[in-house]
Amino acid sequence: MSHDPNCIFCKIVAGQIPSKKAYEDEDVLAFHDINPWAPVHVLIIPKRHIASLADVTEAESQLLGKMTALGPRLMKELGVTNGFRHVINTGPDGGQEVYHLHLHVMGGPRPWLKG
Ligand code: ADP
Repeated sequence: MSHDPNCIFCKIVAGQIPSKKAYEDEDVLAFHDINPWAPVHVLIIPKRHIASLADVTEAESQLLGKMTALGPRLMKELGVTNGFRHVINTGPDGGQEVYHLHLHVMGGPRPWLKG
């Protein structure tokens, strides 16, 4: 399924729910997290609906590479100069709440990160 009408992030991709966009192209969208854990917290998602990292096929590995590499670029653009963190929560025990694959990229002055 490329678009799930019940998925909140598909609705963001479709413009049915507003978001503060940081980047967009034909494959991916990046927007600021509504409930940030860090001074700068963006979510990078594929535009097509992929429920979680556990659902990514080998053919989609390039997409994951693109999402991962976009993180450093966005952090730089958003003024993060001293490091950042990438997180993907997968499944119930992984703490995933929204079942549309998303990469959390978080940066900015600590202390916001434990451990
Ligand atoms: P968790 O809530 O445990 O971080 P996820 O890894 O599934 O679980 O993350 C979902 C993220 O999506 C949360 O950080 C949440 O703040 C964010 N979020 C939910 N709805 C929106 C929205 N409409 N706009 C921006 N971010 C959102």
